[in-house]
Amino acid sequence: MFRYGRVIYFLMLFVIAGLFSGCGSVHERGNYWVDDSHAALGNEPRVNFLIFHYTAEDEANSLTVLTGENVSVHYLINPLPDEISGKPVVLQLVPEDRRAWHAGASFWRGRMNLNDTSIGIELVNPGYHKVGTERRWEPYTDEQIALLITLSDDIIKRNQIKPENVLGHSDISPQRKVDPGPLFPWQKLAQAGIGAWPDAKRVTHYLAIRQLEITTDIAVLQNNLNRYGYQVPLTGMLDDETRRVVKAFQMHFRQADYSGIPDAETLAILDALLEKYRS
Ligand SMILES: [Zn+2]
Repeated sequence: MFRYGRVIYFLMLFVIAGLFSGCGSVHERGNYWVDDSHAALGNEPRVNFLIFHYTAEDEANSLTVLTGENVSVHYLINPLPDEISGKPVVLQLVPEDRRAWHAGASFWRGRMNLNDTSIGIELVNPGYHKVGTERRWEPYTDEQIALLITLSDDIIKRNQIKPENVLGHSDISPQRKVDPGPLFPWQKLAQAGIGAWPDAKRVTHYLAIRQLEITTDIAVLQNNLNRYGYQVPLTGMLDDETRRVVKAFQMHFRQADYSGIPDAETLAILDALLEKYRS
């Protein structure tokens, strides 16, 4: 009786120790054992970024292209997603722990080739069509955006993605990409807790200061865009490359005017974002 009592006592200790030490254990994996009871403190999530795109194709072509051998993405959202039991269906083309080929040559805050560290979501949307020299953009559907918010919220929470690392393709590749475009509802997403957005009061505060400046100091603008995350040449001149970065910034944070020309409001928004996310 005594011996059984001791066995039960030790078994209970073992179970309790297991409960308090997290999930570390010795377990069998094929032809070897793995002891994961010595968890290191130094580690971080592999996924740091969430990147949004539009496909510039219809539904059928989007799926054909994105399931082929050249480009891919983790998730694809149709304009009117199917529903099962009243819940919308998102198409997952690549598992989250696999690298998808959606970002290409890209940069954010010193990191390059963001395919390595991001999850990509494509929205089926034609982008724009040209009327003369003007680009006419196609809006996203409410159903698409509702599903995007639900999906993004889940991805962000599971991977602990920072608000300022939720980006559009044009943010990370401003010289060659304009998706998800100026009709992408960044502010609506931010109100739902997805991505970064400046506080209106702080923008007003900085605007009063910036409006006093006679000319825009391009070197300061470039430096601030760079500090926030954009890859921008530090030339001190408003060259074509810098304009495209300003345009990408405006398409994200000041959609009423995304001409690429820096003005007091653009600088004030950037000031407010730096204060909120980079100080
Ligand atoms: Zn894209």
